[in-house]
Amino acid sequence: MELYSLTIHEAQDKLRHGEISSVELTESVLARINAIEDKVRAYISLQPELAMQMARLADERRATGEDNPLLGIPMGIKDAIITQGVTTTAGSKILENFVPPFDATTVTKLRQAGAVFIGKTNTDEFTMGSSTEHSAFHQTSNPWNLCCVPGGSSGGSAAAVSADETLAAIGTDTGGSIRQPASFCGVVGLKPTYGRVSRYGLIAHGSSLDQIGPLTKDVEDAAILLGQLAGYDRRDSTTLQAPVPDYVTEMKQGHDLSGVKIGVPKEYFVEGLDDRVEAMIQGAISQIANLGGEIVEVSLPHTRYGIPVYYLVSTAEVSANLSRYDGVRYGLREDGGDMWNTFRQTREAGFGAEVKRRIMLGTYALSAGYYDAYYLKAQQVRTLLRQDFQQAFEKVDVIVCPTTPTVAFEMGSKINDPLQMYLEDIFTVTLNLAGICGMSVPCGFVADMPVGVQIVGPALGESAILRVGYHYEQATEWHKRKPVINCSYKN
Ligand code: GLN
Repeated sequence: MELYSLTIHEAQDKLRHGEISSVELTESVLARINAIEDKVRAYISLQPELAMQMARLADERRATGEDNPLLGIPMGIKDAIITQGVTTTAGSKILENFVPPFDATTVTKLRQAGAVFIGKTNTDEFTMGSSTEHSAFHQTSNPWNLCCVPGGSSGGSAAAVSADETLAAIGTDTGGSIRQPASFCGVVGLKPTYGRVSRYGLIAHGSSLDQIGPLTKDVEDAAILLGQLAGYDRRDSTTLQAPVPDYVTEMKQGHDLSGVKIGVPKEYFVEGLDDRVEAMIQGAISQIANLGGEIVEVSLPHTRYGIPVYYLVSTAEVSANLSRYDGVRYGLREDGGDMWNTFRQTREAGFGAEVKRRIMLGTYALSAGYYDAYYLKAQQVRTLLRQDFQQAFEKVDVIVCPTTPTVAFEMGSKINDPLQMYLEDIFTVTLNLAGICGMSVPCGFVADMPVGVQIVGPALGESAILRVGYHYEQATEWHKRKPVINCSYKN
């Protein structure tokens, strides 16, 4: 077995026992990248020298007796999360040459833990998209079929993990951007509860929705990585004060899922859900029942409002968050002679079409005369969506449902139809609106492309979803399959 195909916990075991060094592990990952990255194109930028330097440092730290679950582990970082001294673009021309002067809190935590930074992974511009086709730099391919998209916006992170171009990666999720690409690429992706992980240093999309989380090869790795990222941060006033549990220990509790109540929401099995995907999800639900889970039907009656509410709330926040890109403070500057022309020309040249579309939508929704009809109404329905989940979680411990309505689609097939693209998020956005946690775990294949099942928990319910995911994964083999990197579209 090549070192690059190890999980975090397998590699950690070998590092602890002195069987391998971080330098060897990192060299193996870099060689893998050399061999296949021209086909997958998961990264916006690679930092091989920095990686080797960090690997050597990790080996030195270990030699002094230090131990940590991430010490010496290669990691990809979504290019929407800022890294001191390393160009961070958010997938946008407007930040093409932006070198941040400080680290995001999650990056600081990974550095302290001793992780090795391989590169910055591709993303839709400002994380707006479901296919990574909206990156201003290049498209990323799905390792399972290079003609298909990897999902988005954390498509680079998901593809890199799936293709063994890193051991794990961090991504961000505003409306599904960790879970949907995880599902499309056959890896595990976890969106934590709002406030569980600091957003300090995350380039903002929708500030009331954004969360950073792990994309990994299995559930145990997700638990390990989340444990390192989570926690209160005085630099992000929305982080929760709650203590961070030992997720790995809590996840392994019990021999099976006896006594765990599993909700299945009837509103998630509707028109638009591919029959073949539905069959895989039903298979996962049966498997969970075989493991002792008690299946209970629940209702989330406002689900069908999720997409319109999300695209009003998120675009409103976008219109405010992206006003800072004005050619004055940082990033691209197109001199227009006077102030207004400079603003206009900088934003005209620096933003792509999808970003412009959302700024316009959000500005409209917030404008005088329309605010009550759109933004205020959306906030009211958001409360109803949150109440749906609260009521369901009075009856069940977790909810199990599809992550996405289809498997990965062909590149170019939805790029000119924004509404079709937005419908990709139908099963994921409601969690962000409600502030709760969810994880996608591989549960089968349709036409040789991976399918993920979404396990949803209440606020701070990460241990519960990890436990269900872990026991399910132990009983299946889906996560062990590896893609053969080639192009053969036949959906
Ligand atoms: N696909 C969704 C969107 O385009 C979600 C993006 C995200 O989670 N960052 O907004």
